Amino acid sequence: MKMQVTEIAKAVQAVNAEQAWPDVNVTGVAFDSRRLQAGDLFIPLVGENDGHQFIQSAVDNGAVATLWASDHADSAPKNLPVIMVADTLSALQQLGQYYLQKINPKVVAVTGSNGKTTTKDMIASLLGTQYNVTKTHANFNNQIGVPITLLSMEPNTEVVVVEMGMDHFGELDFLSRLVQPDVAVITMIGEAHIEFFGTRDKIADAKMEIVHGLKADGTFIFNGDEPLLRERAKEVTQHQRTFGLDETNTLAGSDVATSRAQTQFKASLWPDETYTIPMMGAYNVNNALAALLVADTFHVRSNAAQQALASFVPTENRTEWLTGSKGEAILSDVYNSNPTAARRVLAAFAAVPAKGKRIAVLGDMLELGEQSDTLHVSLASELNPETIPSVYLNGQHMQALAATLTNKYPEGAVHYYPTEDQDQLITALENEVQADDQVLLKGSHGIHLENVLTALETAD
Ligand code: ATP
Ligand code: MG
Repeated sequence: MKMQVTEIAKAVQAVNAEQAWPDVNVTGVAFDSRRLQAGDLFIPLVGENDGHQFIQSAVDNGAVATLWASDHADSAPKNLPVIMVADTLSALQQLGQYYLQKINPKVVAVTGSNGKTTTKDMIASLLGTQYNVTKTHANFNNQIGVPITLLSMEPNTEVVVVEMGMDHFGELDFLSRLVQPDVAVITMIGEAHIEFFGTRDKIADAKMEIVHGLKADGTFIFNGDEPLLRERAKEVTQHQRTFGLDETNTLAGSDVATSRAQTQFKASLWPDETYTIPMMGAYNVNNALAALLVADTFHVRSNAAQQALASFVPTENRTEWLTGSKGEAILSDVYNSNPTAARRVLAAFAAVPAKGKRIAVLGDMLELGEQSDTLHVSLASELNPETIPSVYLNGQHMQALAATLTNKYPEGAVHYYPTEDQDQLITALENEVQADDQVLLKGSHGIHLENVLTALETAD
């Protein structure tokens, strides 16, 4: 980006906006002084730490100006332009919105319980065949990440694809009104954050806030297999298109075939073609259908979209195939788990051909509140001795699932270990695993299944 300090001071309605500003170009923004690059505006945010205390480090790294909270006026630096504001986070958001209006690209906003990052990246690569596209970096999807995404746009940006996450009511309302999307996408409704929301109905209500800022002539694209969204979409006046596996959708997927390295499917709008995604998991068909429908809404040529999907490189694929020290294949997804994602990954894992035995290692899914036991037990629907003959469970909440599985599995096939006994799990697992086996690791970050992964990768 390129903005004058004067322009920024006006955009954020600085309390000192009317003063005479030096002629300084700002070429970027940073709220982390360590990552600040020469030419950036420093934006000290107040969270657990107070960013204002890192001003010297920002200056050392080449900050050319800084925002500053007026209640910190006493400590304002003297050696560079200081743009004084009531609240630095609000100022960041205002600046993001100002810059968005200045560049004026089309805006695609993406939310959903799962698949946001994957879908955002797919949309960007499909649209990238015909447009200059900027997208959310990695998973930077909150009230700070969204304005930072906007401020990262090159001036020639034609479409910006913005991932939006939330765990409370009101967050998507705010973000959607901030960016005023031309296209709003909901990938799916799951159970993430149900501890706070209580029901899937309420999660759907909160996700629907993504249409609050949707332009009057914008398009709402959502998962039409989800009745909670269909119901709520009736209240939406903007143009609507749906995707999913149900054939009544605008874009319906079918003939899904998945292997370790890729997934294929057919899409109803282009019945003669077969689509390939270089990623495992039937759930990625959902994400790809959403992306194809967005691309179609932007009139991307269908063969260009098909090719872009086939060569898609996920920026943050948390589900990755690795090889253990005995040669076993490991499907590792150790940093994140929630019931819907875990069920989908189990289904995908069970569908991938294996020479030896499939072994699932599942860790607690955290933050599920009162419904935690029920939701852990819900994984039983995807666990069958015929496809996944051996199961290791780690964590207090997994006890409920362990109890349920004893009705279904032969004795000795389900191994349960409380959180603190992960070492014993590792020992037992290492004894069982053979070269031709296929092992799935999935659990919330707090359970640290990465220890199990390291053990399998380094065992002698
Ligand atoms: P976060 O909330 O952490 O930002 P996200 O919504 O961006 O997550 P991704 O990073 O795209 O989601 O995918 C994370 C995991 O969710 C995947 O590894 C997979 O296990 C699962 N997942 C992805 N897409 C879907 C989907 N459409 N339905 C169900 N599960 C999915
Ligand atoms: Mg994400």
